[in-house]
Amino acid sequence: MARRKIIAGNWKMNMTPSQAVALIETLKPLVKKDDVDVVFCVPAIDIIPAIEAAKDTNIQIGAENMYFEEKGAYTGEISPEMLVDAGVKYVIIGHSERREYFAETDETVNKKVLKAFEHDLTPIICCGETLTQREQGVTIDFIRQQIKIAFLNVTAQQAADAVIAYEPIWAIGTGKVATTEQAQEVCKAIRDCIAEIYDEATAAAIRIQYGGSVSASSAPELFAQADIDGGLVGGASLKKDFGQIVNYNK
Ligand code: PEP
Repeated sequence: MARRKIIAGNWKMNMTPSQAVALIETLKPLVKKDDVDVVFCVPAIDIIPAIEAAKDTNIQIGAENMYFEEKGAYTGEISPEMLVDAGVKYVIIGHSERREYFAETDETVNKKVLKAFEHDLTPIICCGETLTQREQGVTIDFIRQQIKIAFLNVTAQQAADAVIAYEPIWAIGTGKVATTEQAQEVCKAIRDCIAEIYDEATAAAIRIQYGGSVSASSAPELFAQADIDGGLVGGASLKKDFGQIVNYNK
């Protein structure tokens, strides 16, 4: 069975609540599409107004992060239960910016992934190499390690529902998109790794996105690759271009 594409925006630390509502109003008609899952991952404070603004549309609202504990003395954190209660279905886990600026590790990513599944949230699990790692030829080894740790103790059934975002760090926010061949090669290696950990059926079901300076012009070729099931889009998700990206095959 063909995998359904998933195209998600990552707003990062942009958009106040009122700006969020205005952006959703602008993008609503532009991202209308039946055969793609369209997700806007927004800052925590925007989640509730965004869900309200996206009501009766095909837009689903996701979170950009969550904590791996249930509740308690973790000042400033957001729990999975809070996200679920607000109506969130997807949560980005382990974005490279969280790893770089907020000391997230493969181990904390794994804890968050397990906790997300416990609450029926679909994690969008990020992985990706630095430029040095690519230049040293260790990209695939590095990504396989990230994936293996992220999926520790995750069941095959859960893994089949997960989303992985392959995001080379050197391509994020740089305007330097990976070539189609580079992106496909790593996304295929990720799928092969999932097949090794689980089985072919799980590997065939899991959705793998490419992220890193995706634009309206690069999306069609990237998303046409056999192992690329959509994209995680930063900068371009805040603009009307996101409508073109969602409609990449029109
Ligand atoms: C991202 O934030 O996940 C991302 C890919 O950003 P950009 O599209 O701006 O490179």
